Amino acid sequence: MDEMLRKRILEPCLELIRKDAILRNKTEDIEAFMHKREEELVSEINSGKLIIPRITITTGPRCTLQCKDCIQLMAEYEEPYDLDIQEITADIQALFSKIDKCIGVSLVGGETFVYPYLDMLLEILIWNDKITYIEMVTNGTRIPEEKVLRQLQNPKVAVNISDYGNIVLLSKLVTKLDEYGIISYCFSDETWIDVGGYTARGRSESELSDIYLSCGNAKMCKTLMKGKLFDCARAAYLYDLDYVRNISYINVREANPEEILEYFLKTTSGACDYCDYSIPQKKYIAPAKQKNGREFKKSNYTIIARNDYAALVEAKEWWQAQCSNMQEQNIELKDWIRQLEEAKEYFLGQIAHLQNENQRLKGEL
Ligand code: SF4
Repeated sequence: MDEMLRKRILEPCLELIRKDAILRNKTEDIEAFMHKREEELVSEINSGKLIIPRITITTGPRCTLQCKDCIQLMAEYEEPYDLDIQEITADIQALFSKIDKCIGVSLVGGETFVYPYLDMLLEILIWNDKITYIEMVTNGTRIPEEKVLRQLQNPKVAVNISDYGNIVLLSKLVTKLDEYGIISYCFSDETWIDVGGYTARGRSESELSDIYLSCGNAKMCKTLMKGKLFDCARAAYLYDLDYVRNISYINVREANPEEILEYFLKTTSGACDYCDYSIPQKKYIAPAKQKNGREFKKSNYTIIARNDYAALVEAKEWWQAQCSNMQEQNIELKDWIRQLEEAKEYFLGQIAHLQNENQRLKGEL
């Protein structure tokens, strides 16, 4: 098998199949399972089938957070929007009519759980036989609607939650997902890579190629947006924001299968001149620092048993509700006492007046 075909198609596919098998407990003998999958894949690829490891589908830049270092530049949008579901559907149909298999599809926003047509999008992906599994990426700040929860119950789907420190919301989300039997996993203690600004660095061709070939996003996150497949989500949004126009992509409605394969096997991208994600001297930074200066604390959520934590959160909320009830009752009571004091003053005044009248009448007699 050709070297690039092995490195950019076969190996990433196997990596994803292994992850999927472990996450969903598909086997007790992972090595034997993987050996069989590899044989099948090699035979399919050698027979000319077009298999791609993974793509990212974006729902648009609307997000619940405003992370200043977001690799996808979400905080740059002054008017974030949702992508048209008809357009996404047409793009998916166009791409999948030309390929034979895609191991993983990742859905990203913005924040995916605020996308109003998420249930429809999930349904389309779930019923697509060419997709092995679907991963939802969320920042853990929104509880999905009932109709979305129902779709997430499908065993093809898993929810990947980033823990940015809002432990109460996160606990509620995980509890809800557990309640519906939805596969989910949560990343705490994340660090981000500082991807830098969006101006050109002026890198040489060989530097660009080194960066592109070493980048996990370039290998696993080719991003579908508005009829185009980009090298990664950052490239898609650099283009969408009109920050960089000469960025490589393929038009999924016009490209033929050979061109799609070629795109997956290429060795460089101009987008990497606007990004430090995969440079040799990476700088690691705290995740999700907000544009307004707010920083999230580490919640270490995953080291606390989910149910225990949910019970603690519930107890805390109950206690807070009781306290605020008591405060309200206190205010009502104080008002009642004030009214009684006023009544007492009034009646004492009346009694004094009557006593004076009494004295005066006695004097007249
Ligand atoms: S290094 Fe290149 S491929 Fe990787 S995330 Fe940055 S722009 Fe995308």
